[in-house]
Amino acid sequence: MSASSGVVSQSNRRLAVFGLGGTISMTANDSGGVVPALSAGQLVAAVPGLAETGICLEVEDFRRVPGSCLGFDDLAALSDAIDQRLDQGVDGIVITQGTDTIEETAYLLDLVHDRPQPVVVTGAMRNPTLAGADGPANLLAAVRTAASAQARDLGVVVVFADEIHAASRVRKAHSTSGFTFQSANGGPLGYVVEGRPRLLNHPVDRTTVPIIGTQRRTVEIGLMTTVFGDTGWWLDGAADRLDGLVVAGFGAGHVPDRVADALAAVASRIPVVLSSRTGAGSVLSSTYAYVGSESDLLSRGLISAGFLDPFKARILLRHLLAGGHDRAVVEAAFMRAGGHVDQ
Ligand code: ASP
Repeated sequence: MSASSGVVSQSNRRLAVFGLGGTISMTANDSGGVVPALSAGQLVAAVPGLAETGICLEVEDFRRVPGSCLGFDDLAALSDAIDQRLDQGVDGIVITQGTDTIEETAYLLDLVHDRPQPVVVTGAMRNPTLAGADGPANLLAAVRTAASAQARDLGVVVVFADEIHAASRVRKAHSTSGFTFQSANGGPLGYVVEGRPRLLNHPVDRTTVPIIGTQRRTVEIGLMTTVFGDTGWWLDGAADRLDGLVVAGFGAGHVPDRVADALAAVASRIPVVLSSRTGAGSVLSSTYAYVGSESDLLSRGLISAGFLDPFKARILLRHLLAGGHDRAVVEAAFMRAGGHVDQ
């Protein structure tokens, strides 16, 4: 313990930092707008107080793109690179990337991370050219968290604005606020206080799903949001074009009665997951009984997403199908990841 700061020494820790781009790395180009430009090394060098932690950082410039341009191939490569670094004995991983897709990338990484070491994703809402840029503070908090024994066995977490969020719950909930990351179901796992992660709760029902063999299949998963007056036009030919479908239904998992038959027909051919478009709470199972209600749709073969929001449900379904898993595994995984396994 350092007598002056009161912060636990982490100088024996070694972390790998992967830079993927995003606002945290952006500077202005000729047009006056910002684009990814800074290397991961430059990001780390610009953080006040980081060198003083004594934590050894092995920095890798992995990608330099906006969050919206990342794809499944990038994430598969990143997951392999993380495994390699963990095999080499690093104590934790930090990833910097665009905030637009963190809720999806962090969850995908969480589904394959079955080791105890912390994997922490962060970024910035205010780019380095702006007063009050939040990248340095977020990166320092992420490093502090990834180097902490407290953050072991949490899976992948998102550290942002001194909050620690489970990858399975976190959503980008505001287009510009520095406090954009929120976990509507259950709140953050904890906070970074005076440089130390302080955990108030732990993730339950963490789900990891291995890829069968080494093969990653290319699959296409649709995500459709049910809207007022919906005719279900989007279901036409869906089972021929898609490997799986996630429906973001009204409320606790509802669609108009006129859409229910077509949806059930698609569900008889490909996995169809029923989620809620509300942004928080669980799909129900046995409360409403009208045509197009949750109980009707589940009895006709749709799979409940439980507490998983539509974006995370799509990531889970894609990962399961790309990994070659059958219907029984898909159902069991959603039951667990959706928080519906009776304890
Ligand atoms: N548009 C940016 C991105 O996702 C937003 C950010 O990083 O905050 O790359």
